[in-house]
Amino acid sequence: MPMNPSTSPRSAGRLDVIAGPMFSGKSEELMRRVRRAKIAGVSVLVLSHSLDTRSELSAITSHTGVNIPAVPVGDGETLAKMARAEDYDLVAIDEAQFFGPDLVPTVFELVDRGATVIVEGLCVTFEGGPFEPMPTFMAVAEDVLKLTAVCTICGRDAVFHQRLGVPGRATEESQSRATDIDASHIGGAESYVARCREHFAPPH
Ligand code: ADP
Ligand code: MG
Repeated sequence: MPMNPSTSPRSAGRLDVIAGPMFSGKSEELMRRVRRAKIAGVSVLVLSHSLDTRSELSAITSHTGVNIPAVPVGDGETLAKMARAEDYDLVAIDEAQFFGPDLVPTVFELVDRGATVIVEGLCVTFEGGPFEPMPTFMAVAEDVLKLTAVCTICGRDAVFHQRLGVPGRATEESQSRATDIDASHIGGAESYVARCREHFAPPH
């Protein structure tokens, strides 16, 4: 017997992932989807990490300077509280890697409660390794968009980004772990470059 939709619990939502290195257009793609959802009248919550200080705190900003309003949150717990406050149809999370692995159960809970969650972030560190929690999300998402940037040396597809500096030399800066959560990972064109497999030179 069909259930009465007004009394039935919300059915499960879905997880969509947008992943890639820096400059690959992740934020642009997230903004495009959020804009479309708003046109469709969907209730949307856009969250960004408050470490990202590239522009006003209350916005997601792309490398081209385009931005959309977002709620800045500093940790996964606050994010969970914000997202639980209302039955949002769409929860969009920018720079998800900065929330760390604690984000995983929160996102799964939101999806189970019926929301579509878009998780967007770096899936690769500047050392070329996996950047959790993005690989975990990629494994179980309904949809994954894996983007590449343009290699600044040869123009081919870049799956990596690297810090500007002297490759191979273990400077104090390059000794910091590639997944450390600090604002130095949020630099733009001045600190990082996109590189293809051939031209990528990891720091160690
Ligand atoms: P992400 O969020 O993945 O870091 P953004 O969406 O903020 O990327 O910015 C993508 C834009 O960055 C591109 O549309 C392009 O205009 C610009 N850009 C600058 N450098 C590069 C590069 N090396 N490869 C691709 N796009 C680049
Ligand atoms: Mg971005």
